[in-house]
Amino acid sequence: MSAAVFHQPITTVAADLTAGKLSAVELMQAVIARTRAVEPQVHAFNSRDEADALAQAAASDARRAAGQTRGPLDGIPIGLKDVIAVAGQPLTASSKILGNFVSPYDATVTRKLKEAGVVLWGRLNLDEFAMGSSTENSANGPTCNPWDLTRVPGGSSGGSAAALACGSALATLGSDTGGSIRQPAALCGVVGLKPTYGLVSRYGLVAYASSLDQIGPFGRTVTDAATVLHAIAGHDDLDSTSYRTTIPDYAQELQKRTGPWRIGIPKEYFGEGLDPEVAAAVEAAVKFYRDRGCEIREVSLPHTRYCLDTYYIIATAEASSNLARFDGVRYGHRSRGTTDAIDLYAKSRAEGFGAEVKRRIILGTYVLSSGYYDAYYLRAQKVRTLIRQDFLNAYREVDALLTPTTPTPAFKLGAKADPLAMYLCDVYTIGVNLAGLPAISVPCGFSVSGLPIGLQLIGQPFREADLLAMAHTYEQAHDWHRRTPVI
Ligand code: GLN
Repeated sequence: MSAAVFHQPITTVAADLTAGKLSAVELMQAVIARTRAVEPQVHAFNSRDEADALAQAAASDARRAAGQTRGPLDGIPIGLKDVIAVAGQPLTASSKILGNFVSPYDATVTRKLKEAGVVLWGRLNLDEFAMGSSTENSANGPTCNPWDLTRVPGGSSGGSAAALACGSALATLGSDTGGSIRQPAALCGVVGLKPTYGLVSRYGLVAYASSLDQIGPFGRTVTDAATVLHAIAGHDDLDSTSYRTTIPDYAQELQKRTGPWRIGIPKEYFGEGLDPEVAAAVEAAVKFYRDRGCEIREVSLPHTRYCLDTYYIIATAEASSNLARFDGVRYGHRSRGTTDAIDLYAKSRAEGFGAEVKRRIILGTYVLSSGYYDAYYLRAQKVRTLIRQDFLNAYREVDALLTPTTPTPAFKLGAKADPLAMYLCDVYTIGVNLAGLPAISVPCGFSVSGLPIGLQLIGQPFREADLLAMAHTYEQAHDWHRRTPVI
């Protein structure tokens, strides 16, 4: 029996749309019915508008009838993390401070998806302002992992990963500052890609740490992620950090690049804290590539042990600056009955931000303050250069790196009350953001208790086509991505 339509890859559904076996409205109706059935337990969405989605689907069907289909994503329901602006829709970053904010404009990725004919479907839950690894820091309450509702979906893009895993969308977008696409993708058993810094415009993304943030796709398959990446990538005059480079048709390139590759295994990523089941699944993936004729080499990234500290200085410093704009005057929540401007700022921020966001603003303000700037922020920037250099040195010997995405499978809701324990979830993903590299997480197995495990492949700057092809080669020979959670 073939899987229900909401569990199918986009490639399959798009072929059915083309063949006239399915209409975009029927597809959207199936996704709405599925979402209604699972959402009370999963809680992946902050908001959604069924009538609007059905109207977009009807417009797609009308285009198709007129012979004006816009490509492989026309009529496909894609959900966006609730930090990506859609004109006229709520944009909350899962924060009380933006509780009733409606975006006046489209993010560049939103505009591009609209141009591709996508049915934009829902605003997906996250850790407030993308700060966290479990989606528990949301002002709207946590999202649950579709594979085990007592566990976290990962974060911060937990809603994006969970919605896709349970069939409430056919693909989603997230943002990744220190692992927020790859970590939830691993924990929910889907594919998640963090593109090279500069490949995808951040115009219209609620900023967390601007030198690290990237938008990227979640897909059920590598091909789906490649198709969505192709739709959103490319230079944008509205984001001065976006890079001018030619964008290949990533999905087509998958067939052309077949290896064998030289793959580096960074020894620092296989030490203390790595769950044995995760280690075994990743080692089986190493064996797969070796058997396919790839050259496997141990490499060293000696500054790995400084990644977390460096990240939490740079990310909090940038966050404290970015979040200064939420002052109760221009955006969202404003405290009532305040006495003067300073009181208004203080009370609006005290009431509007959650505990983790406040912790980071305070930490970031501290590391930037006069007298401490050189000791913390400036030094962290220097260490960041060394971390990037580690990766570039490794790439003299190998084409890509292979690591676990996360140290453990999904943990229980509430299990990591200590912030440091939570920060450790990102040990394998954070270096990639500090170095500005592309990386992908693909499903590579399940724990004995049925929880997904993710394999991380780290590529070279702007060589997403090679990275995707490596991941695709693995995926073609395994069927982890075909399993679906029972809810
Ligand atoms: N978990 C990391 C943090 O809390 C990364 C989050 C992200 O990538 N947005 O900062």
